[in-house]
Parts: sequence; structure tokens; C-alpha cells
Amino acid sequence: MAVIRDVMPAFQLFQPTSIADAQKLLEQHGHEAWVMAGGLDSFDWLKDRIKKPKALVDLSGIEELKGVRATNNGIEIGAMTTLTEVVRHPVVKEKYGLLAQAAELVASPQIRNQGTLGGNVSQDARCWYYRAGWPCYRAGGNICYADTPVGRNREHAILHAERCVAVNPSDTAPALVALDARFVVQTPTGERVVDAEDYFVGPDIDITRMNILQPGYLLTAIRIPSTWAGAQFYFEKVRDRNVWDFPLMNVASAMVLSGDRIERIRIAVNAAAARPLRLKAVEDAVRGQSRTAATGEIAGKLAVQGAVPLQFNGYKIPLMRNLVKRAIGGVQEAAWAS
Ligand SMILES: Cc1cc2nc3c(=O)[nH]c(=O)nc-3n(C[C@H](O)[C@H](O)[C@H](O)COP(=O)(O)OP(=O)(O)OC[C@H]3O[C@@H](n4cnc5c(N)ncnc54)[C@H](O)[C@@H]3O)c2cc1C
Ligand code: SF4
Repeated sequence: MAVIRDVMPAFQLFQPTSIADAQKLLEQHGHEAWVMAGGLDSFDWLKDRIKKPKALVDLSGIEELKGVRATNNGIEIGAMTTLTEVVRHPVVKEKYGLLAQAAELVASPQIRNQGTLGGNVSQDARCWYYRAGWPCYRAGGNICYADTPVGRNREHAILHAERCVAVNPSDTAPALVALDARFVVQTPTGERVVDAEDYFVGPDIDITRMNILQPGYLLTAIRIPSTWAGAQFYFEKVRDRNVWDFPLMNVASAMVLSGDRIERIRIAVNAAAARPLRLKAVEDAVRGQSRTAATGEIAGKLAVQGAVPLQFNGYKIPLMRNLVKRAIGGVQEAAWAS
């Protein structure tokens, strides 16, 4: 639907080599600046001539934003670390395999080579109308084109919609919520470290944003505590084409068992709402229970309570129910069959 034109609008390109310089540039240019990481989302907006920043701050030359480091209590991943590096990193694979699995299912190898973890969690909504530049709520207008009887809303939200029914399309975001990650954000007034859940915002908080980033903000790193290192992980993504595609829905869970009893659990889904949803009610219901198909069944039903389908996305309710059911109950033949 987007009209592709050949020439991007002109902007000043800045290529800082330190976080401090990037921050100065972002503060200097305020709302006229655009942060660019891998450029996969950024260039879509620029080439479609829908976003027209005056200054582009390219983070690719900042070495301190790259790589995976051990910390006293887990690991820290620089925001500019590519998804491929995340997938291949031995410690991520060994201890935090949930993130490696999620990152490996993002898009295609080429996109994972260029796309960064920081960009993946900060990417914008993929709603057709919004991406094509239609003046909807999310773009600052006063209408939603997707939430109408004939709107294209097959990929849209079933939970927590508020005027805007777009979903967060990130695959790594629910894995980071399940791993209880913290996001390190530099702001003009100092550093903020927020829980993964609180990095993302829904339309009830701010309809024009998907996360807490404001002009002048920079996501520098994501910290994963060792709390869930080596836990039992489950990640599943359902998409239209397995070769590469955004999730119609995904689920991520981290679980510690004592025998067959679920001792500790965190679970999140994405592409069900405008932000990844941690399913606390499910966690509370299954904690202390045996990890069985029956427990999975209860969890799946609980997960979709309150879900409201749009005209063309009713399938997402059984999809979410079954994803949660499999994440909690484990994948048994009977679970796949129903
Ligand atoms: C064809 C295609 C298919 C895709 N399929 C999937 C998929 O299946 N699953 C999935 O999860 N993703 C998918 N993506 C998204 C892709 O994986 C990228 O991760 C994502 O678009 C952005 O990553 P990036 O590093 O290119 O960031 P950019 O595009 O440069 O940035 C994305 C946004 O985040 C902001 N930003 C980035 N880094 C920072 C930072 N450090 N601080 C502040 N702001 C920042 C930018 O300003 C921009 O608004 C797909 C993308 C494409 C083009
Ligand atoms: S779902 Fe959101 S992004 Fe899409 S048209 Fe409606 S308001 Fe805009």
C-alpha cells in the first residue's frame, strides 16, 4: 500500500562515535532528530517519505553500544548488537536460550545481520494504514482506519485496544519480558533503568508511541539477570509464511520446575496488543501446579479472558489460547492435535 518513491527527503547525517556525543546531538536537535540503528524500520519510513526528520543520528559507529558483556548478575547486551550476534553468542545460547530462539525467528538472515536488538524492541507498529501515511490516531489524527467493518485488521489486537488496534510486532520483546530484563535508557535528565514490561506503552498511555522513548532518549543496553539462567524455556511464533514474516502471535515462557511442579514461571505474548503482555494471571494460576496438559488447558483459557476480536482477527483468540496452553503444558501429541 505504501507509495515507494526513489529519493528520500534530505536530512543532515550525524555519525557519532560515543554515547555522549550521540546524546548531545539528540538533545540539540530534539524532536527533529531520528535515531537510526540497523535502519530496517527507519529506512522504510524515510523511503516512503512519511517521516521527515531534519537530523539523522546513526549509531553504527558507537562501539560501546555493541556486544554482550558479563555482569555481576547476568549479562548486558548493547543496544546496537545485531540479532545474529545475539543468536550466536555462546552465553546467550547456553543460559538465555529463550532470547536466542526468539531472535533467530525474526525475519530473514539478512535482516538479522543488520537489525539490532535495540531496534527490534523499539520498532514501530506495522499497521498497513499507519505505515502508508494515513492520518490515523497513531499518526496524530482522530480516526482508526483498521477498526471498521471493512478495515484490514487481520493482524491487529485482541486485547487492551484503545482507539488504536495496532500490535507490537517484535519477537524479542516477549522473550525479554519473560527473562525479566531491564532496559537502560539515557534521557536528558539522566539514566533510567526500567523493567522490560515498563519499556513498552499501550495507546491508553500514549497513542503515538510504542515505548517510553521521547525525543533526546537513547536506549543503550538491555540487562538480563541470572534469575532465569538455564530455566526451561518455550518460544513459539506463528506467522503466515515460515520463510520470513512478522508474528501473527508469539509466546515466550521461562519456567523452573521441582519434579513436575511449576515452582517459578514468567510468560508473555506479543502481537496480541500494542505492547507485549505479561500474563500474570496465568503465572499465578499455574504456580505450584503440575506441568500437565490439563494445567496448560486452564492457562490457555485464562489467557484469553477479556479478548475482543475485530472483524477479521477472530482466529487470534484460539491461537493465543493454544500458544499459552502449549507453553505451560508442554508440547504433547494431544496438545498439538486440538
Ligand atoms: C521485511 C522485514 C521483516 C521483518 N520481520 C520481523 C519479524 O519477523 N520479527 C521481528 O521481531 N521483527 C521483524 N522485522 C523488524 C526488524 O527485525 C528490525 O529489528 C527492526 O525493524 C528494527 O531494527 P533496526 O536495528 O533496523 O532499527 P531501526 O530501524 O534503525 O530503528 C527502529 C526504531 O527504533 C529506534 N531506535 C533504534 N535503536 C534505538 C536506540 N538505541 N535508542 C533509541 N531509539 C532507537 C529508531 O529511531 C526507530 O524508530 C522485520 C523488518 C523488515 C524490514
Ligand atoms: S490500528 Fe492504530 S495505527 Fe492502524 S489505523 Fe488504527 S489508529 Fe492507525
